[in-house]
Order: sequence, then structure tokens, then C-alpha cells
Amino acid sequence: MTHEMPKLPYADNALEPVISQQTIQFHYGKHLQTYVNNLNNLVSGTEFEGKTVEQIVASAPDGAIFNNAGQVLNHALYFTQFTPDQRSAEPTGELAEAIIRDFGSFAEFKKKFNEASVTLFGAGWSWLAADKDGKLHITKEANGSNPVRAGLTPLLGFDVWEHAYYLDYQNRRADHIEALWKIIDWDVVEKRLLT
Ligand code: MN
Repeated sequence: MTHEMPKLPYADNALEPVISQQTIQFHYGKHLQTYVNNLNNLVSGTEFEGKTVEQIVASAPDGAIFNNAGQVLNHALYFTQFTPDQRSAEPTGELAEAIIRDFGSFAEFKKKFNEASVTLFGAGWSWLAADKDGKLHITKEANGSNPVRAGLTPLLGFDVWEHAYYLDYQNRRADHIEALWKIIDWDVVEKRLLT
């Protein structure tokens, strides 16, 4: 299998002012393209050729193949979880029920998720993920890892590598994190929980 770029479900300037066109052009167009190219080159002729990124992230030893597969998976989920036409500021339906069950309220979930995102030291990701019983967890992943590594299903991910926000927010990671809540496509996140 050749790993490919995910298609953006919006124009590259449609998420402004939360994420600028310039950031999309670098983050999606350059950083993610490099991870995809690296992964295709690295797996060629190895036991990981022909495997999905999920399979690679779950099973590859620490190293370049795992790092690049993790970043291909992370960014495919990341760039497809946003919408310029957010229908509701909060999730609804079964996702909302699960969040209330496991965190008490959406406000409490958001507070914990923001804390995880802001306090993650260095480069990495914060994720909302579901375990095999459907219970929700917030995880902090260093560098390019993903909850799939621990057998969880990733639902919503915030990229806290500086390349995700530095052009628009410089050192103000917390401001970027707070703004991201305005562009989440909760239907996409709920589908990941239910499938
Ligand atoms: Mn990134």
C-alpha cells in the first residue's frame, strides 16, 4: 500500500482566523507531505510495506518508521476533524452522553483536555480516545505517538508541536488551543466513536 495525503474537507483558507491559510499550507502541504514521503520510503522492502498506518503504529518498534507512521495517522485524523461551518459548539448525541458519563460535563472535559494540551512538555499530541469498552480517556502522546499504540481508538487530537501554531500564535500555545474548539466537527468525532 502506498500511503497518501488525506483530502482536506475545506479550502486551505476556510479555517481562518483560527488556523491561517499560511499555517495550512506549511503544516498540511509541507510537514504532512514530508511524513507521507518519509513513510513510503522507509517501509519499502520491509515487513511494514503494505500495512495500514494503524497497523504500523500499533506494532512497529520505536524508531523512524513508527515516528513517521504516527505522524501520518495523527495528521490524517487532525486535518479531517475541523470544519468552518461548526453546527454546535459542543458535541451532541452519544458522544455527548459518553463525555458526561466519563468526565462529568463537557466543560470539565474541555478543562482537562486544555490542561493536557498546555502542559505537554515539548512536542506531542493530546487525544480524546476510547478503550475497547467505549470508555473515554484523555492521553498525552510524546512526539508522533498515537493512542492506537496502547490499543485505544483516537477520536479528537490537538497537535501541540510548534509547527501547528507558531506562525499564527508564536509562543501562545494556550490561545491556539482555546481557539481550536471553534472549528471542531463534532459529527466527525462522534462517527469515530461509533464505528
Ligand atoms: Mn503537526
